[in-house]
Amino acid sequence: MSLDAPDRGCREAPVLKERGQREVFCGLTGIIWLHRKMQDAFFLVVGSRTCAHLLQSAAGVMIFAEPRFGTAILEEKDLAGLADANTELDREVARLLARRPDIKQLFLVGSCPSEVIKLDLHRAAERLSAAHSPHVRVYNFSGSGIETTFTQGEDACLAAMVPTLAKTDARELLVVGALPDVVEDQCLSLLAQLGVGPVRMLPARRSSDLPAVGANTVFALVQPFLGDTHAALIRRGATHLPASFPFGDEGTTAWLWAVAQAFGVTRAHFDAVTAAPRARAQKAIAAHAATLSGKSVFFFPDSQLEIPLARFLARECGMTPIEVGTPYLHTAIVGPDLDLLPEGPTISEGQDVERQLDRQHAASPDLTVCGLGLANPLEAMGHTTKWAIELVFTPVHFYEQAGDLAGLFSRPLRRKALLAANQPPSPIPSPQGGGAAPSPLVGEGWGGGAPRLAPGGQP
Ligand code: SF4
Repeated sequence: MSLDAPDRGCREAPVLKERGQREVFCGLTGIIWLHRKMQDAFFLVVGSRTCAHLLQSAAGVMIFAEPRFGTAILEEKDLAGLADANTELDREVARLLARRPDIKQLFLVGSCPSEVIKLDLHRAAERLSAAHSPHVRVYNFSGSGIETTFTQGEDACLAAMVPTLAKTDARELLVVGALPDVVEDQCLSLLAQLGVGPVRMLPARRSSDLPAVGANTVFALVQPFLGDTHAALIRRGATHLPASFPFGDEGTTAWLWAVAQAFGVTRAHFDAVTAAPRARAQKAIAAHAATLSGKSVFFFPDSQLEIPLARFLARECGMTPIEVGTPYLHTAIVGPDLDLLPEGPTISEGQDVERQLDRQHAASPDLTVCGLGLANPLEAMGHTTKWAIELVFTPVHFYEQAGDLAGLFSRPLRRKALLAANQPPSPIPSPQGGGAAPSPLVGEGWGGGAPRLAPGGQP
């Protein structure tokens, strides 16, 4: 589908590259949604009490609920090299697997402490896989905060799985990226109505549904932060379908059309299938666009969703992006969104937080999208903010969530307007400017209760 692209998009725009202090959560955060998605997996963080505290407080799982994640705590004697951490890890994994026969996939997740003492979790995973196969497959990836942004945890997890996937010569569509089950079902329903198939998902809900991959696999990403997974799939011979990400009516339509074209779907059939959900999405977005239209927005680099979201806000909600910061700019992945994002905003990659704060203060945008650690101080200074992490924890993909996505941005603006009209300003504003407790971050679409992340940036 040829979308009504602007005369000049942002693909060729100069990029402000910054390398300095960053304000992000670490990659362990991804475990919070991955453990809900992969129903026979267990994520064993090899880390410190800080790592355990992050996961326990963020995921909000009761200790008797047998969660599918845990932390093997490195004690001082491990860190000092006085104990063999590998022996202790083998013993703890054996105890875990004996107690939890439902576990079919075990992920050893590296952390800052395990990387500092150079504990080789790759070799540990190979050793443990050999010891516990065929019942359990053991993988490893890093969720360390030393190098990562928080969404890289999912990327590292999926990239670790790709080399182990079976080989196939079948022509199949592989949809890559974790979606809440309800959204995944909507995606699969749309693809089935279009006649696209067979369709496989990565990650799969259960290990028995893991996809195979080969030279006839075509894959489409539903999350823009999967750079390593993208590279790993290409190394396996699969072909990437570049497309705008399925946020909003326009992004969803462009994503589906890219897939439909690759599978020979006619335009007439495509229009017939998408007309009704498109109309619903447009109506739902319009209800929020009235609040958003004409407002300016400034993105700090955080989730790696920034460029597709800026495209959505600019084109479907009438907002004006001033700066769109992203931790990494991967044009092979977000190029189609850059094409559609009208020329104008500063595109920045990486972060030097002090300099970016200076630019944000000078621009004084109507809405600032940033990490939790920046939201509180910016609210205290009178800025209206949206937590970037909420955009990952909330179901926002495809047509039926388009209104909810727009609502995530309109809500803080409406709340601020109401407060200005009805109440004296609060001396200690909440992170979302409302004076109430922080809102739950994991929506029911992920199958959880009401887990929370407290404000405060990287632990
Ligand atoms: S940033 Fe903190 S919680 Fe995350 S891996 Fe490092 S020590 Fe653990």
